[in-house]
Amino acid sequence: MQSVNPASGEVIATYEDHTSEQVQAAIARAHEAFGSYRRTPFATRAGWMNAAADVLERRADELARLATREMGKTVEAARQEVLKCAVACRFYAEHAEGFLAPKTVQTEAQEAYVVHQPLGVVLAVMPWNFPYWQAFRFIAPTLMAGNTGLLKHASNVPGCALAIEDVLREAGFPEGVFTTLLIGSAGVEGVLKDDRVTAVSLTGSEGAGRAVSATAGGQLKPAVMELGGSDPFIVMPSADLDLAAKTAVTARTINNGQSCIAAKRFIVHADVYDAFTEAFIAGLKALKVGDPEADDTDVGPLATPQIREDIHRQLQDAVNKGARVRLGGEVPEGDGNYYPVTALDQLTPEMDVWLEETFGPVALIFRVGSLDEAIDLANATTFGLGSSAWTSDAAERRRFVEDLEAGSVFINAMVASDPRLPFGGIKNSGFGRELGEHGILQFVNIKTVSVG
Ligand code: NDP
Repeated sequence: MQSVNPASGEVIATYEDHTSEQVQAAIARAHEAFGSYRRTPFATRAGWMNAAADVLERRADELARLATREMGKTVEAARQEVLKCAVACRFYAEHAEGFLAPKTVQTEAQEAYVVHQPLGVVLAVMPWNFPYWQAFRFIAPTLMAGNTGLLKHASNVPGCALAIEDVLREAGFPEGVFTTLLIGSAGVEGVLKDDRVTAVSLTGSEGAGRAVSATAGGQLKPAVMELGGSDPFIVMPSADLDLAAKTAVTARTINNGQSCIAAKRFIVHADVYDAFTEAFIAGLKALKVGDPEADDTDVGPLATPQIREDIHRQLQDAVNKGARVRLGGEVPEGDGNYYPVTALDQLTPEMDVWLEETFGPVALIFRVGSLDEAIDLANATTFGLGSSAWTSDAAERRRFVEDLEAGSVFINAMVASDPRLPFGGIKNSGFGRELGEHGILQFVNIKTVSVG
C-alpha cells in the first residue's frame, strides 16, 4: 500500500499489506478482547474515550498534516476534522450509558424491560475522503456500546488508518479492542465471513455498498451502509439569496468537492435564477485552488488521478450533449490532481451527470418554474442522502420536509453531520443510521426480558 501526495504525485510512504496470518491474528485478538471488554463499566470506557479526545486535540496539527499529504484536503479542513472527532468521542462518552440504559415496558408480566448488549467484533470499511471523521463516527458509538472494532480503511490512506489505531492505543483502550487491518478491498469478504465477526459498517460508493451488503446478507449479519449522494440545494424566491449563494459555495466545494453530502445539484427558481447564479458563480470564482498545505488555499487537489479523470469525463459528456460551462472546466497543466472549481448549467436528462454523483468541485445548476418542479427534480435521482432547501415561506418549508426523498432536510442551511443527530440515507444512498442515539443502536442486541 502506498501513500501518494495528491498535490505532487510523489510517493510519501509504502506499507506492507497485512498477511492472512496477521489478519487472522487480529480477528482472534478482537474476539478475545470482546470477552472482557463487553463487561467493562460505561465509566471505564468513557474514560478511555475521553482520553482519545484529548489525544486527538493534542495531536491535531500532526494528524491534520498527515491527512493533507495522503488525500489532499487543506490543512485547516483536516484540523477541523480531527477536532470534530474529539467532539464525537466526548459526546458518546457522555451519552452512551443513557442511550443504552434498560427501558421498562408495561405488560401483563410481573416485569418487562429491554436491555442493549454489544454484538461482538464489528468490521468498518471506510473511505478516504474524511479519513478520521468517517472512522471515529463508527468508533465512538461502537466501542462505547461495548463492541470491539476492526478497521479496513481505504487503500490510499494507510498512514491515517495506522494513526487512528495509535490514538486509541495511546488513549488506553485494551489490546485488541480496536485494530487497523492493512488489506485491500478483496480481503473484506473473507473477514466478514469469519464467524467471529458479527456485523459491518461501510461508508463508500454504491458499488462497494452492493458488494459488502451482499456478503453481509449471505451471512445474515447486520450492516450499515452509508453510500453516495447527489444532494439537491433548492433556492426559492423568498430565500435570503446572499446567504444562500455564500453557503452554496461552501456546500459544493467542502473537502475539495469530495463529500457524500456536498450539495451537487443547485435547483433554482426562475424568478431568482439570474441573481442567485451570478452571486454563486462569483463566490466560486473567488476561491483559490492550490497547495493544500498553504494557509490561503480554499480548494486542494482531488485525492487520486482517477477521481480527476472521472469528473472530467462527466464534464466532457455533459458539454458534448449541450451543457454550458459557466466557470472552470479545463484540466490544468502540471503536477498534482488539481481540478478547477467548475459550474455547468443547461443540463438535460441524457447527460451522465443527471443521475451520477459528481465527486469533485463541479456545480450543476438547474432552473425550475415552481415548487412542485423543484421537488420533482430534487427527487429524480437514485440517491437520497441529504437535501438543503432555502425559503422563508412556512408552507414551502412544510412541503420540503414532507416530500423530499432524503435522509435529512436542512432548511436555510447546508447539510452537515453532527454527532447529536442521526445521519444516513435512503434509496441508493444506503440504509441504517450513524451518529445520535439511533447510531449507537445499530450494533447492539436489543434484548427483551420478561419475568412472568
Ligand atoms: P469506495 O467505495 O471505492 O471505497 C470505500 C471503501 O470501500 C474503501 O475502504 C475501499 O477499499 C472499500 N471497497 C471498495 N470496493 C469494495 C468491494 N467491492 N468490497 C469491499 N470493499 C470495497 O469509495 P471511495 O473511497 O471512492 O469514496 C467515495 C464514495 O464514498 C462516494 O461515492 C461518496 O459519496 C461515498 N461516501 C459516502 C458517505 C456517506 O456517509 N454516505 C460519506 C463519504 C463518502 P479500497 O480503498 O481498498 O478499494
